[in-house]
Amino acid sequence: MIIVLKKGAQDKDIDNLIDKVKSLGLKPMVSRGQERTIIGVIGPEDVIRLQPLEAYPGVEKVMPVLAPYKLVSREFKEGDSIVKVKEGVEFGSKKIAIVAGPCAVETKDQLKEIAFKIKNSGASLIRGGAFKPRTSPYTFQGLGEEGLKILKDISQEVDMPTVTEVMDTRDVELVASYADVLQIGARNMQNFNLLKEVGQTKKPIILKRGLSATVKELLMSAEYILSEGNFNVILCERGIRTFSEFTRNTLDVSAIPAAKMLSHLPVIADPSHACGKWGLVGPLSKSAVAAGADGLLVEVHSNPKDALSDGPQQLLPENFTSLIQELRKVAQAVGRSL
Ligand code: PEP
Ligand code: MN
Repeated sequence: MIIVLKKGAQDKDIDNLIDKVKSLGLKPMVSRGQERTIIGVIGPEDVIRLQPLEAYPGVEKVMPVLAPYKLVSREFKEGDSIVKVKEGVEFGSKKIAIVAGPCAVETKDQLKEIAFKIKNSGASLIRGGAFKPRTSPYTFQGLGEEGLKILKDISQEVDMPTVTEVMDTRDVELVASYADVLQIGARNMQNFNLLKEVGQTKKPIILKRGLSATVKELLMSAEYILSEGNFNVILCERGIRTFSEFTRNTLDVSAIPAAKMLSHLPVIADPSHACGKWGLVGPLSKSAVAAGADGLLVEVHSNPKDALSDGPQQLLPENFTSLIQELRKVAQAVGRSL
């Protein structure tokens, strides 16, 4: 259920409605747009259906939200959400945000070399996993807190905010104390306790689509985070499992405009994990930008053949540089910048 207020509704009318919603044991979530304010009502709706809310001062209409996701839906918020990481680095505005960096933080030297190169080429954020979700328990699992420290040190040297994955509810506080943006990996998209935990932080969250999740399920997972009060969510299409076996996964390009049609949240794409082959990262990046992606997450490594994880899909820095140059033209063609 959402309560749409009249243009120019008074603060006291809004406060009055918030108190009313709370008195019914429900949770009000307020979205203040340029034109008007909307109050989302979270909780079992039966109690509110019988209330004459339309009679309250300042109320224009009371509408049921038919989709199971409410706070993430377009009905709840006018316009597109912009998730700001720091001054000049944001997701959802005209400028396409590029997150780049290795699959995993391996050593300080490894990260430093990559960091300066990607920054010079036009990346806005640096990524690198310290806690790695690996299919085999016998492969490199990440450096843990040591990796977070390296990521933070290098990010300060190069002046770029960081993105890194948090896999476990017990690590949320730790990872949030080092990183600027928390990533929820594809395998954890429906780890509801983890979603609630990151929802309690104020950090921007990149929420990756699960390997076999529908767009609706992705939005429901985002709803978990927003319902805890954290509206800084960035959705990420990273490829889904299909019968096609040439690529690691299949980038679902259609999910990008679909998610943007249904939700006000920014949507980015991860072509690296989608295809698993560095030679395909360029074409997929271009298709994602052409389809309206608000950002890209691209794996880059100076020595992919010796990378401790995901070697075959990581771009050499020089290939990343040419990709950014080509992407500028695609971005311009769809009215964006990069
Ligand atoms: C990653 O970005 O490092 C990663 C493991 O991605 P995904 O969760 O999409 O597989
Ligand atoms: Mn990876």
